[in-house]
Amino acid sequence: MITLALSKGRIFDETLPLLAAAGIEVLEDPEKSRKLILPTNQDGVRVVLVRATDVPTYVEYGGADIGVTGKDVLIEHGGAGLYQPLDLRIAQCHMAVAAPAGFDYLRAVRQGSRITVATKYTAIARNFFADKGVHVDLIKLYGSMELAPLTGMADAIVDLVSTGKTLKANNLVEVEHIMNISSRLVVNQAALKLKTAPIRRIIDSFAAAVGSAT
Ligand code: ADP
Ligand code: MG
Repeated sequence: MITLALSKGRIFDETLPLLAAAGIEVLEDPEKSRKLILPTNQDGVRVVLVRATDVPTYVEYGGADIGVTGKDVLIEHGGAGLYQPLDLRIAQCHMAVAAPAGFDYLRAVRQGSRITVATKYTAIARNFFADKGVHVDLIKLYGSMELAPLTGMADAIVDLVSTGKTLKANNLVEVEHIMNISSRLVVNQAALKLKTAPIRRIIDSFAAAVGSAT
Protein backbone atom coordinates (compact mmCIF):
# COMPACT_ATOMS: atom_id res chain seq x y z
CA MET A 1 0.00 0.00 0.00
CA ILE A 2 1.24 3.49 -0.95
CA THR A 3 -0.16 6.35 1.15
CA LEU A 4 -0.14 9.85 -0.35
CA ALA A 5 -0.65 12.88 1.96
CA LEU A 6 -2.45 15.86 0.47
CA SER A 7 -4.10 18.97 1.88
CA LYS A 8 -7.60 19.99 0.82
CA GLY A 9 -8.13 22.87 -1.57
CA ARG A 10 -5.65 24.14 -4.08
CA ILE A 11 -3.00 21.43 -3.58
CA PHE A 12 -5.53 18.58 -3.76
CA ASP A 13 -7.19 20.10 -6.85
CA GLU A 14 -3.90 20.75 -8.67
CA THR A 15 -2.49 17.30 -7.82
CA LEU A 16 -5.47 15.47 -9.36
CA PRO A 17 -4.25 15.90 -12.98
CA LEU A 18 -0.81 14.59 -11.96
CA LEU A 19 -2.41 11.56 -10.34
CA ALA A 20 -4.47 11.02 -13.49
CA ALA A 21 -1.20 10.98 -15.48
CA ALA A 22 -0.06 8.16 -13.16
CA GLY A 23 -3.35 6.31 -13.79
CA ILE A 24 -4.61 7.12 -10.29
CA GLU A 25 -8.13 8.41 -9.75
CA VAL A 26 -9.34 9.50 -6.29
CA LEU A 27 -12.77 7.96 -5.74
CA GLU A 28 -14.24 10.56 -3.35
CA ASP A 29 -14.52 14.33 -3.32
CA PRO A 30 -12.96 15.71 -0.10
CA GLU A 31 -15.28 18.73 -0.22
CA LYS A 32 -18.30 16.41 0.00
CA SER A 33 -17.03 13.55 2.15
CA ARG A 34 -15.98 13.71 5.81
CA LYS A 35 -13.53 10.86 5.33
CA LEU A 36 -9.86 11.53 6.00
CA ILE A 37 -8.67 8.46 4.06
CA LEU A 38 -9.79 8.39 0.44
CA PRO A 39 -9.63 5.28 -1.72
CA THR A 40 -8.40 5.41 -5.32
CA ASN A 41 -9.08 3.25 -8.38
CA GLN A 42 -5.86 1.38 -7.50
CA ASP A 43 -6.06 -1.04 -4.56
CA GLY A 44 -2.45 -0.27 -3.65
CA VAL A 45 -2.82 3.53 -3.44
CA ARG A 46 -4.75 5.68 -0.96
CA VAL A 47 -4.86 9.39 -0.15
CA VAL A 48 -4.84 10.84 3.38
CA LEU A 49 -6.10 14.39 3.94
CA VAL A 50 -4.06 16.44 6.41
CA ARG A 51 -3.51 20.11 7.19
CA ALA A 52 -1.07 21.71 4.72
CA THR A 53 1.46 22.31 7.50
CA ASP A 54 1.21 18.66 8.64
CA VAL A 55 2.13 17.08 5.26
CA PRO A 56 5.95 17.06 5.87
CA THR A 57 5.39 15.63 9.36
CA TYR A 58 3.22 12.76 8.08
CA VAL A 59 5.82 11.89 5.46
CA GLU A 60 8.77 12.32 7.85
CA TYR A 61 7.31 9.89 10.40
CA GLY A 62 5.92 7.41 7.86
CA GLY A 63 2.21 8.19 8.32
CA ALA A 64 2.37 8.70 4.57
CA ASP A 65 4.95 7.42 2.05
CA ILE A 66 4.76 10.48 -0.18
CA GLY A 67 3.13 13.90 -0.05
CA VAL A 68 2.66 17.18 -1.87
CA THR A 69 3.55 20.35 0.01
CA GLY A 70 4.38 24.01 -0.57
CA LYS A 71 7.99 25.19 -0.54
CA ASP A 72 6.87 27.62 2.20
CA VAL A 73 5.73 24.76 4.43
CA LEU A 74 8.88 22.76 3.66
CA ILE A 75 11.21 25.60 4.62
CA GLU A 76 9.33 26.18 7.88
CA HIS A 77 9.40 22.44 8.65
CA GLY A 78 13.11 22.19 7.84
CA GLY A 79 12.76 19.25 5.44
CA ALA A 80 14.90 16.92 7.57
CA GLY A 81 14.67 13.27 6.50
CA LEU A 82 12.58 14.04 3.42
CA TYR A 83 13.62 13.16 -0.12
CA GLN A 84 12.45 15.99 -2.40
CA PRO A 85 12.74 14.67 -5.96
CA LEU A 86 10.45 17.05 -7.81
CA ASP A 87 9.15 20.60 -8.09
CA LEU A 88 5.58 20.04 -9.32
CA ARG A 89 5.15 23.71 -10.30
CA ILE A 90 1.61 23.73 -8.90
CA ALA A 91 0.06 26.13 -6.35
CA GLN A 92 2.38 28.88 -7.58
CA CYS A 93 2.60 32.13 -5.66
CA HIS A 94 5.32 34.14 -3.94
CA MET A 95 6.35 35.14 -0.43
CA ALA A 96 6.35 38.90 0.13
CA VAL A 97 6.67 41.64 2.70
CA ALA A 98 3.60 43.90 2.70
CA ALA A 99 2.82 47.03 4.70
CA PRO A 100 0.07 49.65 4.92
CA ALA A 101 0.38 52.40 2.31
CA GLY A 102 1.01 54.86 5.18
CA PHE A 103 4.07 53.02 6.55
CA ASP A 104 7.31 54.03 4.84
CA TYR A 105 8.97 50.60 4.93
CA LEU A 106 11.98 51.53 2.80
CA ARG A 107 12.71 54.55 4.95
CA ALA A 108 12.43 52.48 8.14
CA VAL A 109 14.90 49.97 6.65
CA ARG A 110 17.27 52.74 5.52
CA GLN A 111 17.22 54.36 8.96
CA GLY A 112 17.87 51.05 10.69
CA SER A 113 14.61 51.22 12.69
CA ARG A 114 13.22 48.14 14.42
CA ILE A 115 10.22 46.83 12.53
CA THR A 116 7.45 44.67 13.99
CA VAL A 117 6.48 41.95 11.51
CA ALA A 118 3.54 39.55 11.89
CA THR A 119 3.72 36.23 10.05
CA LYS A 120 2.94 32.54 9.99
CA TYR A 121 6.33 32.04 8.27
CA THR A 122 8.77 32.90 11.06
CA ALA A 123 11.74 30.90 9.70
CA ILE A 124 11.50 32.48 6.25
CA ALA A 125 10.99 35.97 7.73
CA ARG A 126 13.85 35.59 10.23
CA ASN A 127 16.30 34.49 7.50
CA PHE A 128 15.17 37.13 5.05
CA PHE A 129 15.54 40.07 7.46
CA ALA A 130 18.77 38.69 8.96
CA ASP A 131 20.32 38.56 5.45
CA LYS A 132 19.31 42.19 4.89
CA GLY A 133 20.57 43.24 8.31
CA VAL A 134 17.13 44.55 9.28
CA HIS A 135 16.16 44.38 12.95
CA VAL A 136 12.72 42.82 13.34
CA ASP A 137 10.46 41.77 16.18
CA LEU A 138 8.48 38.81 14.82
CA ILE A 139 4.93 38.06 15.96
CA LYS A 140 3.83 34.52 15.14
CA LEU A 141 0.28 34.23 13.78
CA TYR A 142 -1.66 31.27 12.39
CA GLY A 143 -3.97 33.11 9.99
CA SER A 144 -5.27 36.41 8.59
CA MET A 145 -1.91 38.18 8.75
CA GLU A 146 -3.45 41.17 6.93
CA LEU A 147 -5.27 42.14 10.10
CA ALA A 148 -2.10 42.73 12.15
CA PRO A 149 -1.04 46.07 10.57
CA LEU A 150 -4.66 47.25 10.35
CA THR A 151 -5.04 46.89 14.12
CA GLY A 152 -1.68 48.51 14.87
CA MET A 153 -0.19 45.27 16.17
CA ALA A 154 2.53 45.16 13.48
CA ASP A 155 4.22 47.48 10.96
CA ALA A 156 4.32 44.86 8.21
CA ILE A 157 3.56 41.23 7.39
CA VAL A 158 5.27 38.38 5.57
CA ASP A 159 2.70 36.36 3.64
CA LEU A 160 2.00 34.47 0.43
CA VAL A 161 0.69 36.52 -2.48
CA SER A 162 -0.75 35.31 -5.76
CA THR A 163 -3.09 37.87 -7.32
CA GLY A 164 -2.54 40.61 -4.72
CA LYS A 165 -6.31 41.03 -4.31
CA THR A 166 -6.27 40.25 -0.57
CA LEU A 167 -3.52 42.81 0.04
CA LYS A 168 -5.37 45.43 -1.97
CA ALA A 169 -8.67 44.76 -0.18
CA ASN A 170 -6.89 45.45 3.11
CA ASN A 171 -4.99 48.57 1.94
CA LEU A 172 -1.64 46.81 2.02
CA VAL A 173 1.15 47.26 -0.50
CA GLU A 174 3.82 44.70 -1.40
CA VAL A 175 7.20 46.21 -0.50
CA GLU A 176 9.57 43.22 -0.97
CA HIS A 177 9.49 40.04 -3.05
CA ILE A 178 11.09 37.32 -0.91
CA MET A 179 10.92 34.17 -3.05
CA ASN A 180 8.80 32.29 -5.56
CA ILE A 181 6.80 29.41 -4.10
CA SER A 182 5.40 26.24 -5.67
CA SER A 183 4.58 22.77 -4.38
CA ARG A 184 6.97 19.82 -4.26
CA LEU A 185 6.75 16.08 -4.05
CA VAL A 186 8.23 14.77 -0.79
CA VAL A 187 9.06 11.13 -0.13
CA ASN A 188 9.81 9.14 3.03
CA GLN A 189 13.32 7.75 2.53
CA ALA A 190 12.68 4.39 4.22
CA ALA A 191 9.50 3.91 2.16
CA LEU A 192 11.47 4.61 -1.01
CA LYS A 193 13.87 1.76 -0.10
CA LEU A 194 11.11 -0.69 0.84
CA LYS A 195 8.61 0.15 -1.92
CA THR A 196 10.98 1.37 -4.63
CA ALA A 197 9.08 0.26 -7.74
CA PRO A 198 5.59 1.69 -7.01
CA ILE A 199 6.99 4.95 -5.59
CA ARG A 200 9.39 5.35 -8.54
CA ARG A 201 6.46 4.81 -10.91
CA ILE A 202 4.56 7.69 -9.29
CA ILE A 203 7.62 9.98 -9.25
CA ASP A 204 8.32 9.25 -12.93
CA SER A 205 4.68 9.78 -13.99
CA PHE A 206 4.52 13.07 -12.09
CA ALA A 207 7.86 14.15 -13.61
CA ALA A 208 6.62 13.38 -17.12
CA ALA A 209 3.35 15.23 -16.44
CA VAL A 210 5.12 18.39 -15.25
CA GLY A 211 7.73 18.09 -17.99
CA SER A 212 10.86 17.72 -15.87
CA ALA A 213 13.63 15.13 -15.70
CA THR A 214 14.34 13.10 -12.55
P1 ADP B 1 -3.86 26.76 4.89
O1 ADP B 1 -5.01 27.71 4.64
O2 ADP B 1 -4.24 25.47 5.52
O3 ADP B 1 -2.68 27.40 5.52
P2 ADP B 1 -3.68 26.89 2.03
O4 ADP B 1 -4.61 25.95 1.37
O5 ADP B 1 -4.04 28.33 2.07
O6 ADP B 1 -3.35 26.31 3.48
O7 ADP B 1 -2.28 26.79 1.35
C1 ADP B 1 -1.66 25.56 1.15
C2 ADP B 1 -0.45 25.79 0.30
O8 ADP B 1 -0.84 26.32 -0.94
C3 ADP B 1 0.53 26.81 0.89
O9 ADP B 1 1.43 26.18 1.73
C4 ADP B 1 1.17 27.38 -0.34
O10 ADP B 1 2.28 26.62 -0.76
C5 ADP B 1 0.07 27.30 -1.36
N1 ADP B 1 -0.65 28.58 -1.45
C6 ADP B 1 -1.14 29.32 -0.43
N2 ADP B 1 -1.72 30.44 -0.87
C7 ADP B 1 -1.60 30.41 -2.20
C8 ADP B 1 -2.03 31.28 -3.24
N3 ADP B 1 -2.66 32.41 -2.98
N4 ADP B 1 -1.78 30.91 -4.51
C9 ADP B 1 -1.16 29.78 -4.79
N5 ADP B 1 -0.72 28.91 -3.85
C10 ADP B 1 -0.93 29.22 -2.58
MG1 MG C 1 -5.65 29.18 3.04
